[in-house]
Amino acid sequence: MEPDSRIGRMSDWSTLRATHRRPLRVALLPCAGRGERAGGGRPKQYVEVSGRSVVHWTLLAFDELVGQGQLDGVAVVLSPGDEEFVQAVPPALRERLQVMPVGGATRAHSVWGGLQALAREGLGETDWVLVHDAARCLIEPAELLRLIVACEGDAVGGLLACPVPDTLKRADALGRVQDTVPRDHLWAAQTPQMFRLGLLRDVLGRALQAGIPVTDEAGAVEWAGQAPKLVAGPADNFKLTYPDDFRRAAEVLARRSTSIGTTP
Ligand code: C5P
Repeated sequence: MEPDSRIGRMSDWSTLRATHRRPLRVALLPCAGRGERAGGGRPKQYVEVSGRSVVHWTLLAFDELVGQGQLDGVAVVLSPGDEEFVQAVPPALRERLQVMPVGGATRAHSVWGGLQALAREGLGETDWVLVHDAARCLIEPAELLRLIVACEGDAVGGLLACPVPDTLKRADALGRVQDTVPRDHLWAAQTPQMFRLGLLRDVLGRALQAGIPVTDEAGAVEWAGQAPKLVAGPADNFKLTYPDDFRRAAEVLARRSTSIGTTP
């Protein structure tokens, strides 16, 4: 990636680190998916919900934490040649991001490209990276902060996740119940997932090399023999995937705007 191919500002993480007494905390948003399951014909992160694109809503939560000094920057991974991001996010917000057109064939490859780019630009091995799906637009700043507080003293790192409340059934090939899966100790993984850059680059790189199907960062960390910390997250931090998810997200945003007395 050449520096002049970026849409947002240049970042020099090593200069920033010199002004901090703690490891840096940088959000990394994979935003390079095609999102076919959403059925809308365009990547789900660019679909409009309650007057803003999905990724715009997502970025607002992270930007608020940057404003509070709790997060040191936000980096976004796009597909090479992406032309929709500039339409989907207003210029004033884009200015404050590092945008990296290094997306790959799978989410894990996009995250990997983003981690490599952050390392090239001076983010340190012990600095924290909070990987968050651009398509989880209902995340709130308070939840991000809770994850940071829970993980920053941890040797491994961790993730937001929700205990599974429903009884789980395994289906057979005919769509009939094969058996019931005990739900004790089962959690549904969400994002952000917060790990040190050095650890995450190492385990994700090795997992991809070994051909392991990696669907989240914690999976790669577990594969390498470490146990990420589970931090209880909110039920409405769901990933927008199917058409109905967009309607549900609009309802949540409408409820929030009513409760704070504003329109979205
Ligand atoms: O498709 P999926 O639901 O796994 O996407 C989760 C997040 O990962 C989305 O924000 C999507 O844009 C991103 N992604 C990516 N590169 C891919 C596939 C997905 O950045 N190749």
